[in-house]
Amino acid sequence: MNKRILVVGASIAGLAVTHWLTRYGFDVTVVERAPAPRPGGNGVDVRGQAIEVVERMGLLGPVREAATDVEAMQFVDRAGRVTARISITEPGATEIMRGDLVALLRDQDGADYRFGHHVRGLRQDADGVAVEFERAPSERFALVVGADGMHSTVRRLACGPDERFVRFMGHYFAFADADATLGADRAVTMHNSPGKMAGLYRSGNHAQAKAYFIFRSAPLGHDHRDIEQHRRLLREAFADETGWRVPRLLEAALADTDLYFDALAQVRMGSWSNGRVVLVGDAAWCASPASGSGAELALVGAYRLAGELARAGGEHRTAFARYDAGQRSLVRSKQQIGPNVSLMVPRTTTGRSLRDALARLPILGPLGALERLLQGRARPLPTYAPADRELP
Ligand SMILES: Cc1cc2nc3c(=O)[nH]c(=O)nc-3n(C[C@H](O)[C@H](O)[C@H](O)COP(=O)(O)OP(=O)(O)OC[C@H]3O[C@@H](n4cnc5c(N)ncnc54)[C@H](O)[C@@H]3O)c2cc1C
Repeated sequence: MNKRILVVGASIAGLAVTHWLTRYGFDVTVVERAPAPRPGGNGVDVRGQAIEVVERMGLLGPVREAATDVEAMQFVDRAGRVTARISITEPGATEIMRGDLVALLRDQDGADYRFGHHVRGLRQDADGVAVEFERAPSERFALVVGADGMHSTVRRLACGPDERFVRFMGHYFAFADADATLGADRAVTMHNSPGKMAGLYRSGNHAQAKAYFIFRSAPLGHDHRDIEQHRRLLREAFADETGWRVPRLLEAALADTDLYFDALAQVRMGSWSNGRVVLVGDAAWCASPASGSGAELALVGAYRLAGELARAGGEHRTAFARYDAGQRSLVRSKQQIGPNVSLMVPRTTTGRSLRDALARLPILGPLGALERLLQGRARPLPTYAPADRELP
């Protein structure tokens, strides 16, 4: 019975869970609100256990081929002079443009993809979930996987309102296309004024570059779908910033029709499932772009969720409990974003000078190695095939 599964959202988590579910023999339908997989975004890291997951998907070669070659984060003053530089390369890890990763994950057969569709209602009973769509007749599925991002509709319908789970982290951020000549090759270049950061992500082997902004703020009550409002908020936050190349970065971001703006927020939930509905990726545990771990958590979580369903022969209670137990310590560690935010967006000029001084000391490399060592010990990645039980 638990064979027909609806996946809501076709980004990193939704496409990865679909890959594994179809491979294990489940019958998967995917609905995505956008008319096609959404491109866009900066480089995202495939690191830690996600490298092994991508390898088991057969995608490590293509991911490495499409990888960016950004190797450092550097901070510049008003005049563009580099005040500190940190290496961000990590043994075995790969950074890839988010849109390229989505395209690679999408390149698979076996699932029924429906773009331009979204869910309006969910009603669970003992045998399944009746799903109401916005522009299509209702259908029944055995299980529903919400992979629909931080503002998840599935989470709201199955678990409760955003106020219970979404924690604002005191900042807003934006990503947009930008002119590649504005920053140094193979670097993320950042300029700070107190509580603000404007930067440029530029890989040496990709034509495009991405502008990246973060600013500290009280809650602005923004609507995550209102791009005109996003433009206004971004313009207001950076209008007085005249240092480095900030005015040109801002101009480019305001002109980008795909400007991606949101609150820096985290999703914290005691359980990632309710009955026959389960969440994965940002919908379940968004750690925020400041974690640098969204793709890694989504890839590993999708692998574990599908694997546990296969291992339990589709029995969702057992599978969801094991998935939760397996994934939680990794999520908890990645949600500790305080040091990253202080590094990228110091609150004061003294904090900025301190950051630059620390960045010049050779301590960040060993600290990163220690972090990886501790995470590697947390929960080894299980091997799921073959299934313990036959699927019904
Ligand atoms: C356009 C875009 C750009 C991004 N850029 C970056 C970046 O530069 N750096 C970074 O760290 N992270 C970025 N992210 C977030 C990053 O993708 C996630 O943190 C992480 O990879 C986990 O992905 P996810 O699949 O859980 O969620 P998301 O990537 O947020 O994907 C959720 C998907 O669900 C779809 N969706 C939402 N609601 C519904 C609904 N009701 N019905 C159907 N579909 C729905 C969305 O259109 C989206 O495709 C970006 C996300 C998007 C969508």
